[in-house]
Amino acid sequence: MQKIKYIKRSDALSDLRSIAEKRLDNYNGKRQDFVSSPEEMIKLIHELEVSRFELEVQQEELIRSRNILEKSIERYAELYDFAPVGYLTLSCQSTIIEANMTATKILGIDRSLLEGNRLKNFITPRDVGVFNALLDRIFGGNMTDYCEVMLFESNTIVRIDAVLSPDRLECRAVLTDITASKLAEEELLAAKAQAEESDRLKSAFLANISHEIRTPMNGILGFSELLKKPDLSGEEHSEYVDLIHKSGKRMLSLINDLIDISRIEAGETTLHIHKTSVNQLMRELAQFFKPKFDEKGLRLSCTIGLPDCESTIETDGGKLTQILTNLIQNALKFTEQGVIDVGYSRKGAMLEFYVEDSGIGIAADYIEKIFDRFRQVDNALSHTQEGAGLGLSITKAYVEMMGGSMRVASVVGRGSTFSFTVPYAACDVSEVRLQELSVVERVEPLPQMTFVVAEDDNVSRLLLLRMLGDDKVTVFTAGNGIEAVELVKQHPEVNLVIMDIKMPVMNGFEAARIIKEVRPDLPVIAQTGFTSNEERNRAIATGFDGFINKPVCRNELHSMMKELLKSRVCLTR
Ligand code: ADP
Repeated sequence: MQKIKYIKRSDALSDLRSIAEKRLDNYNGKRQDFVSSPEEMIKLIHELEVSRFELEVQQEELIRSRNILEKSIERYAELYDFAPVGYLTLSCQSTIIEANMTATKILGIDRSLLEGNRLKNFITPRDVGVFNALLDRIFGGNMTDYCEVMLFESNTIVRIDAVLSPDRLECRAVLTDITASKLAEEELLAAKAQAEESDRLKSAFLANISHEIRTPMNGILGFSELLKKPDLSGEEHSEYVDLIHKSGKRMLSLINDLIDISRIEAGETTLHIHKTSVNQLMRELAQFFKPKFDEKGLRLSCTIGLPDCESTIETDGGKLTQILTNLIQNALKFTEQGVIDVGYSRKGAMLEFYVEDSGIGIAADYIEKIFDRFRQVDNALSHTQEGAGLGLSITKAYVEMMGGSMRVASVVGRGSTFSFTVPYAACDVSEVRLQELSVVERVEPLPQMTFVVAEDDNVSRLLLLRMLGDDKVTVFTAGNGIEAVELVKQHPEVNLVIMDIKMPVMNGFEAARIIKEVRPDLPVIAQTGFTSNEERNRAIATGFDGFINKPVCRNELHSMMKELLKSRVCLTR
């Protein structure tokens, strides 16, 4: 409440007038005694005239001073009212004696209703004790102190800085709205906690990754050592080779997961939407997993929710396969007996897929966290299973990218159900059939081929030689780009080049560019350990006709070569 009062100028002047008149009466009464001669009278009149002018000057001075004072008072009132903080004068009972406009705004009350109100009535009950303690400290002798409280209705957080008045009967309180800075502080603390948690998870991840790499490496190195034994039976030999192959695949899947997660984090993952028959995809998955289920004595039940003619949708079939594969693989890992039920049904504009197992289940405390990166449930069985805790976070990210959402319900000891949705964007099936037909068209191998293999790594070069090895085939090998270019120039009979990208002296991009200048029609396939889309696009832009990732799959390489040799059409898989 504003205490400053203004004195009206007209009141002040009339006060002055009456005082003056009283004095003149007084003076007139005594005048006889003073004036004894006409000269004296003239002198007195002169004195009076001078005094009158003096008075006038004084009057003007007074008015000017008053104007200045009034302006200062107005300015002070404005400053007081519109200060960025609230000012209050409080009694020791917290009664509000005076408040500026900002204080009323912070408290959210009309000024007229403030008088007699107590500040503690505006404070949330939880914090009233804190405020009372501040008043006790101030009126108990602490000259200045502060506290932080939340206001009752608005949830505004305010800092109250209190100062005891010189007469010790009141205190002046400064009210500052600190809600924004408190929220920022809380966010900062949460971010710090999250960073610490990420750090902890990263350390756990490194330990885990080391385990995940060393375990298959153990298999690869150990069994390849055993393969050298001269007295191996044919059965042992194929068993060891099989185990080496499995270990290699396990390592590759770990590396793929790591690449997927780093691409997701870098925002580099894109969807490749095309027509996909969901029923066909489900059947292929069931077929793929059948041997693994049989091996573990588990039953796989596959429920298809739509007739074939309605099950073709526009979606990223590759990602959908990866999502379901991850979930089925987890179900297999964490289930020792019973059935794993995989299926889908249509729910309006969405398809809802589910993978239900009768395995160990997941405790409620962990259920939200299993989607975090590098997170594995802390239990004995999880520790015995392979995995780096990346599968579910990749799966969830893919589901969300595809416009769906993911859920999990689980009961410890009974099993878990992972379900997710993807948009049901139906499409014309006849087109798909045509496409499928054109893909299965047979390609006859061409006789008497000559290839150039450019690869600086001895093992990879040898592997390619073995993969291409055939009586009818001649293979020239190059250890760098320059050698590859020279071979192409010297041997016009070369039919195809397989080119590593990262090579010394001249890299594969440069070599392919020169080869394409010399022989534009000669097919050149890039093979590389770099799997990013950027690398692939760069290869295609350079003029490569095909792109294949390491580790090279023999079947994939052969069909790509056949296709290129047959049509000489650029393949952009
Ligand atoms: P990982 O590759 O280590 O399995 P995931 O991200 O796929 O990583 O899974 C994270 C964790 O969630 C697993 O380590 C496991 O503890 C738990 N989990 C996932 N699926 C299941 C399931 N079907 N049953 C029980 N626990 C599961």
